[in-house]
Amino acid sequence: MNLLHANDTAGEYPASYYAATRSDLAPFAQLRGETRADVCVVGGGYTGLSAALHLAERGYDVVLLEAHRVGFGASGRNGGQVGSGQRQDQTWIEAAVGTDKAHALWDLAEEAKRLVKSLIHDHAMPVTFHPGVAHACWTASEVSASHRYAEKLARDYGYTHLEALDQAGMERIVGSRVYKGGEVDRDAGHVHPLNYAIGLAKAAAAAGVRIFETSEVHRVEPGANPIVRTGQGRVLCKQVVLAGNGYLGPLDRKVSAKVMPINNFIIATEPLGARASEILAEPIAVADSKFVVNYWRLSEDNRLLFGGGESYGYRFPDIIKTVSKPMLEVYPQLKGTRIDYAWGGTLAITMNRMPCFTRPAQNLFSASGYSGHGVAMATLAGKLMAEACATQSERFDLMASLPQHRFPGGPTLRWPLLVLAMTWYSMRDRLGL
Ligand SMILES: Cc1cc2nc3c(=O)[nH]c(=O)nc-3n(C[C@H](O)[C@H](O)[C@H](O)COP(=O)(O)OP(=O)(O)OC[C@H]3O[C@@H](n4cnc5c(N)ncnc54)[C@H](O)[C@@H]3O)c2cc1C
Repeated sequence: MNLLHANDTAGEYPASYYAATRSDLAPFAQLRGETRADVCVVGGGYTGLSAALHLAERGYDVVLLEAHRVGFGASGRNGGQVGSGQRQDQTWIEAAVGTDKAHALWDLAEEAKRLVKSLIHDHAMPVTFHPGVAHACWTASEVSASHRYAEKLARDYGYTHLEALDQAGMERIVGSRVYKGGEVDRDAGHVHPLNYAIGLAKAAAAAGVRIFETSEVHRVEPGANPIVRTGQGRVLCKQVVLAGNGYLGPLDRKVSAKVMPINNFIIATEPLGARASEILAEPIAVADSKFVVNYWRLSEDNRLLFGGGESYGYRFPDIIKTVSKPMLEVYPQLKGTRIDYAWGGTLAITMNRMPCFTRPAQNLFSASGYSGHGVAMATLAGKLMAEACATQSERFDLMASLPQHRFPGGPTLRWPLLVLAMTWYSMRDRLGL
């Protein structure tokens, strides 16, 4: 079983709200026969598209191979939240790698957020960056910790965009009584994720990248002149960028020992009309403090797009059932509301939830495992890999210096062990521990 083919129709976007509202993009041809390139990029999500675009802008001849359609993977299915900082908070990062490196990693993450905004602007993408992401806390102690963290970011990192909220302030914005407070990050924001991916693909193609869709890579033969093989063709190149993220699996077993695919789900209600302002009083996105995070926002036609639930394994569960439960816990008033779309996506996590940047060979680069924080970071990863291909690898090396460990259990036992660990944490969510 291969995750690339487990839940979806080959060569098509899943039936999501995003696919129903996507920008036009004529399919790119399938790779047939032999071609040559300076760099071959495997995977057409944010990582691969951004790498290809930035390489082409540096004058490289680039071929990008995508198994289905560009934005088919997590990049076309996610919550659209462009968060600030790295996936782990700065307190964790300082303890792990020291203050100097923590500052450098914070700066990279801020650059990642700016990069998304500037790519949208510079390439005139039909994508709106809606500012504001709230972090809603279930317990009073989480609220205190989040307010202390906002003070730390202002004091130590000069980041002053976090607005602390008490219970009443949170309820005023998110229209739910379950949260005790939290904060809103006014510089983070949210986008239509698939249209952002399509915007990147159009920009890359305009910059000269040769994109091939329905071109699944079956093998990468390393060496001074690597050969990348699909079912119908092959690319002879000098460098390879691996950007398959949660689907990478067999293409690089050393990377996939450290990067684990997991599935996450989103539902879209019918348009809520006037009721929408009772759900969110401002056009912000929200993520809460559960271990299995609930996250939501309104679409441009006032549907609630609510994400949550996780599964580990190849097949998606009953998505409406899985996600309706947490949605109704937060918004009981939505009982009986019609669900028009439900879709799942496969993302990739690492043991420590920081991304895995690695260079399996001198001319082979890989970045993945953004652990649910990849809209901005994957975009930046592509840029850093383009820099590294062009021999400026200091910033890629900084990310690659983060310690990464293999998931216990090896290829056969890692999933059952992960299920055990995740079940324990989600049980804590349910028990309110
Ligand atoms: C439901 C969900 C919600 C999320 N919400 C958020 C969020 O709100 N904010 C956030 O920051 N992050 C979020 N994420 C994570 C984010 O979407 C990812 O981190 C990011 O999209 C990763 O981009 P990528 O290009 O590395 O991977 P992907 O977008 O998965 O792209 C990989 C691509 O490679 C292709 N591919 C794989 N193997 C091969 C092969 N052998 N040959 C050819 N092509 C191949 C796949 O078809 C795919 O298109 C979410 C993810 C999911 C699934």
